[in-house]
Amino acid sequence: MAKIKVAKFGGTSMADAKAMLRSASVVNTHQANLTVVSATSGTTNKLEELMALAQGNSFENLEKTIEELREKHLNICIEIQADKIITDRVDQLCRELLTLAKGIYFLKECTPKAKDRIYSIGERLSSTIFTECLQQVLGPTVTVSFIDARDFLITDSNFNKAKPLTDEIKNRCQILKDTLETNSSQYYVTQGFIGKTIEGETTTLGRGGSDYSASIFGEAINATEIQIWTDVAGIATTDPRICPNAKIIHEITFKEAAEMAIFGAKILHPTTLVPARRSSIPVFVGSSYEPDAPGTWIKETSENKPLVRGITKKDNQTLITISNPSMAHAHGFLALIFKVFEAYDISVDAITTSEISVAMTVENRVSQNASFIQELESLGKIKLEENYSLVSLIGNKINTTPGIANKIFQGIGDTNVRMICQGASVHNFCVLVRQENGNQAVQQLHRAFID
Ligand code: ADP
Ligand code: ASP
Ligand code: MG
Repeated sequence: MAKIKVAKFGGTSMADAKAMLRSASVVNTHQANLTVVSATSGTTNKLEELMALAQGNSFENLEKTIEELREKHLNICIEIQADKIITDRVDQLCRELLTLAKGIYFLKECTPKAKDRIYSIGERLSSTIFTECLQQVLGPTVTVSFIDARDFLITDSNFNKAKPLTDEIKNRCQILKDTLETNSSQYYVTQGFIGKTIEGETTTLGRGGSDYSASIFGEAINATEIQIWTDVAGIATTDPRICPNAKIIHEITFKEAAEMAIFGAKILHPTTLVPARRSSIPVFVGSSYEPDAPGTWIKETSENKPLVRGITKKDNQTLITISNPSMAHAHGFLALIFKVFEAYDISVDAITTSEISVAMTVENRVSQNASFIQELESLGKIKLEENYSLVSLIGNKINTTPGIANKIFQGIGDTNVRMICQGASVHNFCVLVRQENGNQAVQQLHRAFID
């Protein structure tokens, strides 16, 4: 039986003709039979701009933005000398985009459902062109087929942040699995990020969700490995853009890597590792620009388990404090609060409590949710403090190692810490600092624990 490998390429690996051809040769070297691609770099952001423009008054700007996107993709087609079928398909997708944008323009409303239809164009464009690139690189002895992820990656109807329906996906992917197991000259290219409800509506998994798609597909087709190809040569001890001397971690456990992703390491979408870990599929993270570099392997166990593996940062955090003096010695206060969070499907990153107050961090946008805030107000006095960064030390035995808090506070110097959160997990210790001090706190902690 042939080995099945899934490779995912992010936006920078799809940036232009050169990047696409380079990524195609990575697929060739690694014999990855199913490739999952993101939209070309900057395209999803451009589509977001388009959705904002469509709700405004300038139809001309709308057309101009779509024309820019069309040109960008047609230029790649020209450079790779793509077949007319491909350029026609690019045109057709841009016409679909214009139709959707017109709908929003006239209604002056962009629903989450409409948003996902628009988002989907980005990945559908890149995957159409990449299918042709891959066929050119692999040559005529193999078949490269374009597949629409929406026929396989079935989700619930939580538009913009849909959850995959694992059993349904497995059933639908059986045909891909059977083909790949018996035919080593068959390759597939599909889109990350997008899916469809049972009823046929397009959904997305949340920004950055292509990593998650790769892991979902990997589990569904029983892959032996999942490769995430990006613009850095693996998971580093912190974001190299913040600390240029961050070091690549060559081996890391699922638990530590998941913790890094959840607490802000953008290199992996937070839920990426759930399917891979559930099905014990090792995950490789590497750079499509330096494909020979050793990269990072994420596995169940790792030989070394350092106290601090890495440092992460999550921006745009709001601290919500709820106080109610009548709750002293009462019970059930937290249950009431979390009922509201559950009803609005809002998750908390860090929390601390006292007898009459609870302080929690949520994403900044939550504070704009008027009815959510109003419901919380019925439980106590609310204080909202916006624009914080949650900086986390990720590692092992963090909650039982003596002296760690002391070293953190010495390391972080005079940066003001608004809240700390430690004790619940062996894997992390978080400090909440003003967003303008976030990078500095990461650099200081990196110096104290890793450099
Ligand atoms: P892609 O488009 O390939 O999905 P992303 O931009 O989503 O790529 O993720 C890669 C980026 O993640 C890197 O360029 C880097 O700036 C950032 N990053 C954040 N934390 C880390 C980390 N710990 N290790 C490596 N990269 C990180
Ligand atoms: N294109 C989507 C985004 O930019 C998904 C992804 O790249 O993972 O968020
Ligand atoms: Mg990404």
